[in-house]
Amino acid sequence: MKISNLKIAIAGNPNCGKTTLFNSLTNLRAHVGNWPGVTVEKKEGKIDFMGKTVEVADLPGVYSLSPYSPEEKIARDYILDGGADVIINIVDASNIERNLYLTTQILETSAPVVVALNMTDIARKNNIRLDTSALSKRLGAPVVEICALKNEGLKDLLKACLKAAESPREPFDAFAGSSLEEPVKKIAEIAAAAGKKNPKMLAACAVESGAENSGFSKSEAEQIEKILSETPPHPVLGADFEAIIADTRFNKIGGVLSGILKKPAMSEKLTASDKADRILTGKILGLPIFLAIRAVVFNLTFGEDLLFLQSIAGLFGVEIGAVESPGVMLQGWAESLIEWISSGAAAGLESAGASGWVRGLVVDGVLAGVGAVLSFVPQILMLFLFLSIMEDTGYMARAAFLTDKFLRKFGLSGKAFMPMIMCFGCSVPAMMGARTLENPKERRLMIMLAPFFSCGAKLPIWAIFAAAIFPKNADLAIFAIYLSGIIVAFIASLILKNTILKGEPSPFILELPPYRIPTLKNVLANLWEKLKHYITKAATIIAGATVVIWFLSSFDFSLGMVETSSKESILGSIGSFIAPIFAPLGWGGGDLGWKAVTAAITGLIAKEMVVSTMGVLYNPGVEGDALEDEAAGTALGLAISATFSPLAAVSYMLFNLLSVPCMAAVATAHAEFGSTKQTWITIAFWLSTAWIVSFLVYNVGSIFF
Ligand code: GDP
Ligand code: MG
Repeated sequence: MKISNLKIAIAGNPNCGKTTLFNSLTNLRAHVGNWPGVTVEKKEGKIDFMGKTVEVADLPGVYSLSPYSPEEKIARDYILDGGADVIINIVDASNIERNLYLTTQILETSAPVVVALNMTDIARKNNIRLDTSALSKRLGAPVVEICALKNEGLKDLLKACLKAAESPREPFDAFAGSSLEEPVKKIAEIAAAAGKKNPKMLAACAVESGAENSGFSKSEAEQIEKILSETPPHPVLGADFEAIIADTRFNKIGGVLSGILKKPAMSEKLTASDKADRILTGKILGLPIFLAIRAVVFNLTFGEDLLFLQSIAGLFGVEIGAVESPGVMLQGWAESLIEWISSGAAAGLESAGASGWVRGLVVDGVLAGVGAVLSFVPQILMLFLFLSIMEDTGYMARAAFLTDKFLRKFGLSGKAFMPMIMCFGCSVPAMMGARTLENPKERRLMIMLAPFFSCGAKLPIWAIFAAAIFPKNADLAIFAIYLSGIIVAFIASLILKNTILKGEPSPFILELPPYRIPTLKNVLANLWEKLKHYITKAATIIAGATVVIWFLSSFDFSLGMVETSSKESILGSIGSFIAPIFAPLGWGGGDLGWKAVTAAITGLIAKEMVVSTMGVLYNPGVEGDALEDEAAGTALGLAISATFSPLAAVSYMLFNLLSVPCMAAVATAHAEFGSTKQTWITIAFWLSTAWIVSFLVYNVGSIFF
């Protein structure tokens, strides 16, 4: 049979180079979507090779095909259902024993498989030698050496795929000669009799994770139970079949590799990576180093005082001016650029004779709202750049390891650490980052906690309030806000974990990949993907929301145009109507309460809007964009210090910190949950946490002050 169209799927452990291979094969021309029904990323691309169209799909990284996590289910179903003509099983040659575990499972199917031995450069450097042709014979599948990073061996790999697609293969048998040989054989017969594909693989699955989990019917499951109960117990592992299967597979792998794998004895000498690990994940320096790295990354991205130079000089009694960090500098440039565009648009519209409301809609509505979001793009990109470097070098895996034990107390695992850090930038990508968590409850928990880790868009609120209310200790006040968010997150996590999200966090498979130098190509591809997502998703939602806000604050209920953000506007009327709900929090009562309330409510759409709404509402007669002006900023500060008592200000900041972060986050949470009910529960959770915490702080605080 000649194939003119070939579908290839790349399967392998996390971090073995799947994405790198995929990118090299497809020249980055990937289409990224989700696997149906779940939010696990699906990447597909097409290439032409030797006159054939080859479609390539990047399967999720998994250690085994046991159907526990969504990733494992996807990979398993894909392979079992014959979703591809050929499977490239990519294997890390520098860590081959562990990687072959998945290989033995994949080879138990009858699907055409090519084993791609990747990271051969590292293996060579570590003096690991492997007889690939002998390995190929023992596995019963072609083995091709590649180096995905340097584009080596890719042609041979594709040729092997074309050939494998046309030559049938005997399924691999990991159980021959073991205590499981008989039971697996009998169960495979049951599967075959039921007309199932890949009986051997299914039999192993049934032994490992239960017959019903593996798609057998009730009556078949009973027969299988019986076969297993008649199997003599393992001398050490008893009737723990999951463990016996693993043990048997690893024994088999040992046999497959014996005599053909040569590597320097482990104890011979510590690699540089091991030495670095001793320090970086050590008990004493691990956490301080990690915190220092994080502080520097945040400083480079958000700091007004580059590398804390001014503060450090201050310690020695030297007065120097502060230098802005690259992130802040870039953000300033982006802001000026956007301002320039929007004033150009305003002038253009005016000279074109556009009516007042059109100008208002375009300039004060869409451009102001979308501009506010886009002005954060440089900082978001920078943060992602650092995070992506930290991840690609293998450092993040170590940071996750350092925090795993601590997070576990709160129903999360070390894997939640990365999304948590991302939250400080923006909760939208952080929520997507929560996909790396295996346990769905843990994923939900992480998404629900996301807003409590103060994001970049909230910074303007902290900056203005801290300066207005605590002028001497503004930086301490901002630090305290960040800290309170983290504390609330952990308390909320404990409560959720013991109520609606009962369950254990996912087991943390400790995988410390060797340190690697990140490649520019990978980092840029990563960055571009994130950027695209952020801009399209956030900008469409923000653009829509701004139009609505602009409309609501510029018209009254009879649709007559009113002075922007006056009490007569629709927004003003609604604000006054619901203000009493917030009176117990210290800032909803009185004549001016509705303004604070309206600003907080617009903040539910995007946190940038809190400050811009306040600027308009507290400065009657001043245009909204005059806020860019330092003087107007100070005027707003004065208005705030005159309106808010210190306690009310703290309560207000806490409310903004803990409530619904923005509509983009709500939309993302909804997409990630795939459930409207869970989305509403989460919105209610955010609002009630914000209200309750603000209420407690204000009222308990009132007793003392
Ligand atoms: P995935 O998790 O399987 O998708 O793995 P990635 O493709 O993200 O690769 C993980 C890391 O290994 C990245 O830092 C890659 O640059 C690196 N990498 C991938 N292939 C090779 C290789 O052949 N040699 C070396 N030295 N590094 C590689
Ligand atoms: Mg990948």
